[in-house]
Amino acid sequence: MAAVPKTRRSHRRVRTRRAHWRTPLALAGECPHCHELRLPHRVCPHCGYYNGRQAVEIKSKEK
Ligand SMILES: [Zn+2]
Repeated sequence: MAAVPKTRRSHRRVRTRRAHWRTPLALAGECPHCHELRLPHRVCPHCGYYNGRQAVEIKSKEK
């Protein structure tokens, strides 16, 4: 059997369900090391720091 929706969802129902969605930018906070925007529980993309230490090396675009 194909997975076909039995009834059509109204715009209101869809919008209500997605009311809790946030853009990644709304979630982002400041990196304690370089003070750039960074997602929580992620290694900082700017300086590569996580949990107060250098977690990954950053290949910077300049140079
Ligand atoms: Zn940082």
